[in-house]
Amino acid sequence: MTSEEILAATERYLMNTYARQPIALTRGAGCRVYDPEGREYIDFVSGVAVDALGHCSEEVTEAINAQAATLIHVSNLYHTEPQVQLAQVLVEYSFADKVFFCNSGAEANETAIKLTRQYATQTHGSERYEIIAMENSFHGRTLATIAATGQARFHMGIGPLLPGIVHIPFNDIAAAKNAVTSRTAGILVEPIQGEGGVVVAEQKFLQTLRELCDHFGSLLIFDEVQTGVGRTGSLFAYEHDGVLPDIMTLAKGLGGGIPIGACLAVDRVARAFSPGMHGCTLGGNPLVCSTAHAVLSRLLENDGLLDRCREIGQYFVKKLYALKETFGCIQEVRGRGLLLGLALNIEGNHIVDTCREQGVLINCTSGRVLRFVPPLTISRNDIDQLVEVLTAVFQKTMSKAVL
Ligand SMILES: *Cc1c(COP(=O)(O)O)cnc(C)c1O
Repeated sequence: MTSEEILAATERYLMNTYARQPIALTRGAGCRVYDPEGREYIDFVSGVAVDALGHCSEEVTEAINAQAATLIHVSNLYHTEPQVQLAQVLVEYSFADKVFFCNSGAEANETAIKLTRQYATQTHGSERYEIIAMENSFHGRTLATIAATGQARFHMGIGPLLPGIVHIPFNDIAAAKNAVTSRTAGILVEPIQGEGGVVVAEQKFLQTLRELCDHFGSLLIFDEVQTGVGRTGSLFAYEHDGVLPDIMTLAKGLGGGIPIGACLAVDRVARAFSPGMHGCTLGGNPLVCSTAHAVLSRLLENDGLLDRCREIGQYFVKKLYALKETFGCIQEVRGRGLLLGLALNIEGNHIVDTCREQGVLINCTSGRVLRFVPPLTISRNDIDQLVEVLTAVFQKTMSKAVL
């Protein structure tokens, strides 16, 4: 099909849930994607922080091919080797003792919310169900996770929302101290608010949440769906702050492009689940688990892909600060590792459009924040090319503003 045919068929056959950009993509290799006519783009979106090893990496493609020819799916009525192998790596390299697998970030957070309420009910009684979440957060599109998402625009027209969720301002220590009570089952927070505009949680804030949870017997839940699996330059973002959660959720980068979610917990908490309380038919099947295992193995190899992510992230940040010095429409450089943002004082969408026309894919979140989440394998040269394009785009935008 041509690009034009694909775009027309989207309109004809798909529900109108996405404001898609007007290009179709048919092929990917490394940090490049291609449309049917062969037009090339450098990809600084990587499927929204998913394709951590780039497109069709040897590791991911080989794992999929090998497992697809062996065993793809049998359900959780049985034990399977790839699932326990992946769980073992996640446990060995994190604070957690136990893992539950599902298909997406939203499902991982649903699991976290259910587990938190189960634990709270069993430990403290039925009055303990409140979940404290953050304003401007994003936790997914299911009814529970959308209720936890602290952005009113997602709540329109689908009420009544799941009760028992309270929102406080992100990074507001006083508000947290006020909100946590003996009704608090858990606090749900992203170490970096990705969809909320690439806003990094302050270490002191996370430390305070940990202390409050310890004091009230509540659970601390980190949503690392976007920050996890190497994105910030450490395997998990919580490692930067030295604050350990009781529960953590993963998804996006974990499967390197195939759908997987995971909810991890310490043993004391995980024990609140017993057979029949939760489940997922496709969750953790051999195909996705062997692929995710290949992604983690690559990240944990001794050649230092995580170190490289940190290093190249610093190079990237320096370039972004230089842009900020030059262009007054840039207010702030944000983020960590290869989860970076440029907060603007103008709308970002037309910048995204112009970059795409120049062969570079970026994304805009929260209206005015350009977000950069390239594959962790991105090169300095690709970053230089992005910066060149951004420079030209900002120059054009600024001269228009002057006129
Ligand atoms: C993307 C995202 C989700 C939702 O993940 P899905 O796989 O789209 O359900 C949840 N939390 C955070 C922090 C995310 O970035």
